[in-house]
Amino acid sequence: MANDRVFNFSAGPSMLPLEVLQRAGAEITNYNGSGMSVMEMSHRSKVFQKIFDDTQAKFRKLMNVPEGYKVLFLQGGGTMQFGMVPMNLIGKTGKADYAVTGNFANLAMKEAKKYGEINIAASTEDRKHTYIPAQGDLKLSADASYFYYCSNNTIEGTQWQYVPETNGVPLVSDMSSDILSRPVDVSKYGIIFAGAQKNLAPAGLTIAIVREDLAGHELPITPAIMNYKNMIDKDSMYNTPPCWCIYMLGLMCDWLEQQGGAAGMEKINIAKANMLYDVLDNAKLFTVAAEKGSRSFMNVTFRTASADLDAKFVAESVEQGFTNLKGHRSVGGMRASIYNAMPTEGVEKLCDFIKKFDSEN
Ligand SMILES: *Cc1c(COP(=O)(O)O)cnc(C)c1O
Repeated sequence: MANDRVFNFSAGPSMLPLEVLQRAGAEITNYNGSGMSVMEMSHRSKVFQKIFDDTQAKFRKLMNVPEGYKVLFLQGGGTMQFGMVPMNLIGKTGKADYAVTGNFANLAMKEAKKYGEINIAASTEDRKHTYIPAQGDLKLSADASYFYYCSNNTIEGTQWQYVPETNGVPLVSDMSSDILSRPVDVSKYGIIFAGAQKNLAPAGLTIAIVREDLAGHELPITPAIMNYKNMIDKDSMYNTPPCWCIYMLGLMCDWLEQQGGAAGMEKINIAKANMLYDVLDNAKLFTVAAEKGSRSFMNVTFRTASADLDAKFVAESVEQGFTNLKGHRSVGGMRASIYNAMPTEGVEKLCDFIKKFDSEN
C-alpha cells in the first residue's frame, strides 16, 4: 500500500487496487499516444472502440461467458435493472418469482410489481434477512417468466452458496456485490447484472449479461434505453456509454487475470473472509449477524451487545486508518466490505484491531 492510503471497507463505491489506480493515473492526460484522455474521446473513435472491444473480450474470458450471451455496458446502476428486468422479461407470462432476501431484492420486487404479477418465492424477513432459504423452501411457480434473486445481500451480509434450480424457468441474478469474486456458470442464467462500483470499476457502469433469446419480448412501454434488444443490436452504443468506466473495467480485468481470474480471486476472498469470521466467532464482545452457512464472503456484518460500544469501535477504527466500518443505517452495528480489491493485509490488520478491542473492553 502507498502509505497515505487508508484501508477502506466501504460497501460501495469501494476500493480499487493501487496498481489499477496508478496505471490510470499514468495514462490520464494522454492515453496511448492519442494526445487525449479516455475521458475526452469520442465513443465512436477507433481508439475508444479498441478499448471497448478489448474490455469486452477480457471480461467475457474472466466470466467464461458462453456463445448465445451478450455482455452489455449500461448506465443506471443496479437500480435501473430492477425495472429493466421486468419490462423486458415479464411479458412472456405476465408473472415472475422473486426471492426476497434483503433490502435490494425487496426493492427489485417492488419495482417489478408495477409490470406484472409477482409471486414471493421466499422471504427471509422473519429472521431479519440473516439467512438464505434452502432450495426446498423455494415456492416456485411453473408459469413464471423468470426467477429473480440477489446473490449477495450487501447490507445484511448473506450470500447464496448454491444456484437455485428452477426447472427451466430463466434465472435472473443481481450480482452487484459479488461479481467476479468467484466463478459463476453463466450458462445456468438468463440474466446476470451488476453495478460495477463494488468489485470492478468506478460508479457509472452497469454490466448486464443477457441470454440473447430472452431479449426482444419487452413490454411496449419500455424506453429505448432500457430495451435489452436495442442495446444488443447497437452493441451498448445506442447512446454514449460510460466510456471512462469501461476503460477502468479493462484495467481491472487485467488485474483480476493476474490474481488467477475468478477461481484465483475466490481462493483469496474465502481466505480473507474466513480469517475475519474466525476472529469474530472467537471474540467475547462480537457476534456475526448472518447465520452460519449463509454468511457472505464480501460483506461481513457484526456487532457488540451495545450501540455505544459499536460507536466506540467505529470511532477507534478510524484512528487506526480504517474507514467505513459503520453498518448500514437500516441494520446498525458494523460492516466490513472486503471486495476483490481489499488486500489480505487490510483484513489482517482489521483482525488485529478487533482482537485488541475485544481484550481491552
Ligand atoms: C449497491 C447495490 C445495488 C444498487 O446499486 P446502484 O448502482 O446504486 O443502483 C443493487 N443491488 C445490490 C446487490 C447492491 O449491492
